[in-house]
Amino acid sequence: MSTTASHFKRSATQYCHDADHRQRIRTALTGYEVKRDENKSRFQSWEDARQTAAEIKHEVINHLDRYLELFERNLKARGVQVHWASDAREACECIVRIARDNSVRRIIKSKSMTSEEIHLNAALEKEGFDVFESDLGEFIVQLRNEPPYHLVFPSMHLTRHQISETFTEKLGAERVSEPEQLTLIARRVMRQKFCKADMGVSGVNFGVAETGMISVTENEGNARLTTSLPRIHVALMGIEKLVRRMDDLALFLPMLATAGAGQALTCYNTLFGAARLPGEPDGPGQMHVVLLDNGRTAVLADAEQRDSLHCIRCGACLNVCPIFRNVGGHSYGTVYGGPIGSVITPNLRGMQDWKHLSFASSLCGACTEACPVKIDLAHHLLQNRRKAVKARPPFFEGLLWSGFAHLMRQPALYRLGAKVGRLLQPLHGLVQGSVLDPARGWTQSRETPRIARRSFTDWWKETHR
Ligand code: SF4
Repeated sequence: MSTTASHFKRSATQYCHDADHRQRIRTALTGYEVKRDENKSRFQSWEDARQTAAEIKHEVINHLDRYLELFERNLKARGVQVHWASDAREACECIVRIARDNSVRRIIKSKSMTSEEIHLNAALEKEGFDVFESDLGEFIVQLRNEPPYHLVFPSMHLTRHQISETFTEKLGAERVSEPEQLTLIARRVMRQKFCKADMGVSGVNFGVAETGMISVTENEGNARLTTSLPRIHVALMGIEKLVRRMDDLALFLPMLATAGAGQALTCYNTLFGAARLPGEPDGPGQMHVVLLDNGRTAVLADAEQRDSLHCIRCGACLNVCPIFRNVGGHSYGTVYGGPIGSVITPNLRGMQDWKHLSFASSLCGACTEACPVKIDLAHHLLQNRRKAVKARPPFFEGLLWSGFAHLMRQPALYRLGAKVGRLLQPLHGLVQGSVLDPARGWTQSRETPRIARRSFTDWWKETHR
């Protein structure tokens, strides 16, 4: 078993036994579901909107080369510096270089899962830069040295009391219990950091190819400050985040807010297209966009899995996933958790090390139903399983199934096996699930079905003489 798989198993077992954790997640997500359903009704037809969104992403992803070139051309026409990074190392080196070339010391960041994917904070800190997260949830998990728990809600696993303890321990703040008081403490710290930062790093929710602009959505206003107060703005974007034109945002912005957070629209929706232009009073002096591949083109080349690149990172599939709700976001051991993480992580980071995530699903299909861009996540999980088994067939499972197939082809042997099984089953019952049980891995959390006292063939013979 790989180290990533044993981490998952250990952590998932621990979280599944933590009733408080499960209750916290359930409480957080119950409110979300009510609000999401309310806001879905604002669409003339949520199903038609999903279909249109899926078709737009299909068009862009299937002509990604063309749209990326158009996007780059339009950005450059307005003086934005565009950088291409084929992997995480190149992206980090590029951002470090921009910071060094401009004598940057302090960096402020708004929420960006892509930056988590490439471990940007660690790379910048290693080079001696002071890096500070400005999204409240990210700020909290950064103080606790934890990775984000969820794509959209990085600290949803924490109670306000735990957050207060963290603020007391790390910031020397007084103990408070009201969310407003906690926000004020964070705000006081952040204001100073915003004013002193030399460079701001943001993510990108959508890149608009037609205009060469990037769209950033948020609820706290911190992304606006991150991108406008420091003298340099660096936007890090996965190459799949494109839409065709401005009109597409009229669909995607409310859809992202509704599916992701149960909101009609996020509070702040900003478009960036250039650094400060002559005559403008504020804004950064330089704007850079770093376009990241990091395995995406390999997924693009796979016609069966290409549509996993349609993902707009709304987090809806995590919210409805019974596995995510029980094992928790940190068990996945990777920045993208839940169903979409289980689909893309093995493809982006290596099938052998991450294939276990494809099995972290009951295949109930709730994620597929929830996805606003209609990615058939359950189907992708099955495809991953098939790929993993093809690449390295599991030896013992293979042996077991070929033995079973052999048995099924030999009626006399099958009947003998059933008789022996009937005799031995009561003995197995005495040790079932204990350390003496050779099938413990299976039986400690499952009941073994009883072998019928009489076989179907015997029953048939007796009743149809
Ligand atoms: S796969 Fe769909 S539901 Fe999941 S995060 Fe991506 S867009 Fe949202």
